[in-house]
Amino acid sequence: MKRGERELCEAAVAALGREAVISELEQLRTYECDGLTGTRVVPALVILANSTQHVQEAVRLCNTYDVPFVARGAGTGLSGGALPVADGIVISLQRMNRILEIDLESERVVVEPGVTNLAVTQAVAGHGYYYAPDPSSQQVCTIGGNVAENSGGAHCLKYGFTVNHVTALDVVMPDGSLVQLGGKSLHTSGPDLLGTFIGSEGTLGIATQVTLRILRKPDSVCTLLAGFDSVDGAGEAVSDVIAAGVLASAMEIMDRLTLEAAEAAVSAGYPAVEALLLVELDGTSDQVEEETERVLEIFKRLGASEVRVAKSDAERALFWRGRKAAFAALGRVSPNYYVQDGVVPRSKLPAVLRRIGELSEEHGLPVGNVFHAGDGNLHPLVLYDASIPGDLAKAERLAEEILVACVEAGGALTGEHGIGTDKACSMPLMFSKDDLAVMARLRRAFDPDGRANPGKLFPTPRLCGEVPGPYREHPLEKAGRAERF
Ligand SMILES: Cc1cc2nc3c(=O)[nH]c(=O)nc-3n(C[C@H](O)[C@H](O)[C@H](O)COP(=O)(O)OP(=O)(O)OC[C@H]3O[C@@H](n4cnc5c(N)ncnc54)[C@H](O)[C@@H]3O)c2cc1C
Repeated sequence: MKRGERELCEAAVAALGREAVISELEQLRTYECDGLTGTRVVPALVILANSTQHVQEAVRLCNTYDVPFVARGAGTGLSGGALPVADGIVISLQRMNRILEIDLESERVVVEPGVTNLAVTQAVAGHGYYYAPDPSSQQVCTIGGNVAENSGGAHCLKYGFTVNHVTALDVVMPDGSLVQLGGKSLHTSGPDLLGTFIGSEGTLGIATQVTLRILRKPDSVCTLLAGFDSVDGAGEAVSDVIAAGVLASAMEIMDRLTLEAAEAAVSAGYPAVEALLLVELDGTSDQVEEETERVLEIFKRLGASEVRVAKSDAERALFWRGRKAAFAALGRVSPNYYVQDGVVPRSKLPAVLRRIGELSEEHGLPVGNVFHAGDGNLHPLVLYDASIPGDLAKAERLAEEILVACVEAGGALTGEHGIGTDKACSMPLMFSKDDLAVMARLRRAFDPDGRANPGKLFPTPRLCGEVPGPYREHPLEKAGRAERF
């Protein structure tokens, strides 16, 4: 440990107690990356905060010793958001896992940031309520991480993302002060600082208390699945369901590669088809019954095979099990995989999926597709073998070209996994120099010294190359279509 780091460690132990400080190399390694495992950095120190005051103390230490800090929930992020900074402190929020208040009358739950997503629903299920945003990682990911990433999930098609379900936050600012954003009501006055903070990936401060909106469980839910002989066919069914005025709560597609891996992993009884479409409908019993008929008609008209309607909660859970396990299941067919996350207008799904197929062939790496089809959020999974020299770089290149295809189709760089370190250098694909300058000014208003999660979300010369040169030889840049920052 370097001299400055030793002093920092001693000061942290004095302020927070030995049990709140991790300084041994082997233990620090636990925190060296998030779900984006290709990049790893060992932090100088990890602080296990158990209260807002702890977080404030930790942030103040960072100011005193002039080192950066990185907030961390469960570390399931897929864009390198919780990647440590080498001379900085990781502030883990996982010990702050208490549900502070369940206010059924106002339909609000107040939680600490380390509470897992699923725990919120479990806490209110007995009263007939649930928390709507449902990332597939919901058993482990934390509400703090969800807030920072504005996480989504299969049911966001109907119910919206985290930003639509958070009404208040307590935030420790990068100078150690504590502010409250929003309240229990949906309406606040002045600029929307709550909306600004949600999705800011830990670059504006640390959320230490979160007020969530809970919803009444729908009277009735129906889950259907149908096989198609092409992903295009499944995509057409999605468009037709929407055109018929049916607002499904979820519409998910898995292609053959992903389907086979998911089936091998969880034995959900999925049919062997080129593409599987999963549709979920919810609402009143009459409405669900009527919509189910309409969806079944569409399936029939489009020649779907293996149409099934779940007859019980257990069967419904089975239909979902493979979809929820799809990412991990790819680990059975490939030693490593890279999860891309891009968005395209729904009408462009077939063209972009065809382009992904071409890129897969060009680069010689298989790509599995699983996606939130209703909102055009693609998750191509690029399979590679890290033990083969150059394979990771090839996978990253392929994943990046997929992103270019999404942006060219009028889509976006991320649907739900965030920008992090992974895509910070790709931001100029979507945003002009002036757009990025405004974002940088906003960030400085919260964090003038750039201490909160530096190197994430925003492209910087240090991360991406010297200004004004290109930071990466990007396909769009080569074609003169990207602005340089
Ligand atoms: C198998 C798998 C499936 C997934 N499925 C989905 C999905 O369906 N939908 C989806 O949206 N995501 C999904 N993810 C991604 C990930 O789970 C989400 O981004 C999740 O919100 C991250 O939560 P976390 O607690 O793990 O946060 P971390 O990974 O620890 O941190 C994520 C970011 O949040 C910041 N942060 C954490 N806590 C705080 C806080 N209290 N205050 C301020 N900043 C904070 C960190 O600095 C970092 O930038 C999946 C990941 C995996 C591994």
